[in-house]
Amino acid sequence: MAHHAIHPVAGPRQASALVALACAWPVAFAQTPAGEPADAVAKLVNQLDLEKYKATIKGLTQFGDRRQGTERNRKALDWIEAQLKSYGCANTERLQFQFTEPVKRTPAAPQPARAGGPAGQGGSTLFGKRAATGVNTDPMAQPDERLRALNAEPTPEGTSLRENVYCTKVGSTRPDEMYIVGAHFDGIGWGEAANDDGSGTALVMELARIFSLPGVQTERSIRFALWNNEETGLHGASAYVAQRKGLQGIESPKGSGKYPEPKWLGMIQHDMMLFDHGMPVPKLNADGKPVLDAKGQTVYAPPDEQRAEADVNIEYQATSRHADAAAKLAWAFRAANDKYATHYPAAVGFHMTNTDSTPFMDEVPAISVRENERGMQIGAGWSPHWHQPTDLYSSYSDKDFLLGLNAAQTTLAALAQLTGAKVKH
Ligand SMILES: [Zn+2]
Repeated sequence: MAHHAIHPVAGPRQASALVALACAWPVAFAQTPAGEPADAVAKLVNQLDLEKYKATIKGLTQFGDRRQGTERNRKALDWIEAQLKSYGCANTERLQFQFTEPVKRTPAAPQPARAGGPAGQGGSTLFGKRAATGVNTDPMAQPDERLRALNAEPTPEGTSLRENVYCTKVGSTRPDEMYIVGAHFDGIGWGEAANDDGSGTALVMELARIFSLPGVQTERSIRFALWNNEETGLHGASAYVAQRKGLQGIESPKGSGKYPEPKWLGMIQHDMMLFDHGMPVPKLNADGKPVLDAKGQTVYAPPDEQRAEADVNIEYQATSRHADAAAKLAWAFRAANDKYATHYPAAVGFHMTNTDSTPFMDEVPAISVRENERGMQIGAGWSPHWHQPTDLYSSYSDKDFLLGLNAAQTTLAALAQLTGAKVKH
């Protein structure tokens, strides 16, 4: 069993030694708000921009819900690849796999209820008030005719080819080691999959852009991966693990200094980054009276506004083979958030589940970064547009997009520290 050490993060003194003059960089980015000279990590984080992040999410929504197996999904992949190339992210590659529709799923065995509520996914407990969750499969639930037409092509039945896409920042001194940063670009629900997972895909693309800027160097490699077929059961990420885990650390061709699959140091997945309005509350109609369902029961829904207490949720899975190292990785991300995020803090949880970091978690320390805990919060209906026709760019406010940007700040800062990033002029 391989042991994957988490490399110590640069302390303040070490980080300041990395500071180079920022000749090619805008003057405003060379200082922190407190007026201190910015370290290399801060300079990189300062390249993140709310409008750019929003524009990348908006770009993804032109392909509707990007359902796997469809032309709109393939067009989204082409568009993502073209963007990565335009950023200068080297060696854009596609990983191909066969997928068979319909997918056979074995339903999870029901878990006994806990003291605080029903058992949720990933080992969680669903405390408190809950709202309905589900997947919309009804085209007529999408009132926008343009979107209904855009999302009309169904997934083909039978076995056919699917693709993931990734690009890699090659490390300057340790090209044979890498962190994998991922999100899934496929979606469902007859909307625009803006939050799930345009928000995570755009985050990974923004990081690829920034790490590819001229003068940015990292000691270790970083792979920016956009997975397909997450929504069918993590098939894109699982295909990557199956095809490439045995290639880790092999120099090819021998003596070239090139490592097609650097040794995995950690995997960080981003899935739904925008919406943390809190626990569902009674839904009110225009008269301020509680909305009742067909059975006369009060309908619960999360509040309309992003809450001031919103946070970025970093999760690892306590039952995974590398749980201890994954926990350490999660805390390094929280520390990076403390130091570099501008608006929202981060929290660490141990029930990572239902996203593309799962197929990695017994191979390498793996974490997910999200708007909410997947088990106890998203699973209890805290994210009302999840897999719904309302998962539209227009459903989110700047306060929502800012939560996603703070997640980007968190991952960017942590990765910059873990890979030994330097900024040269
Ligand atoms: Zn998702």
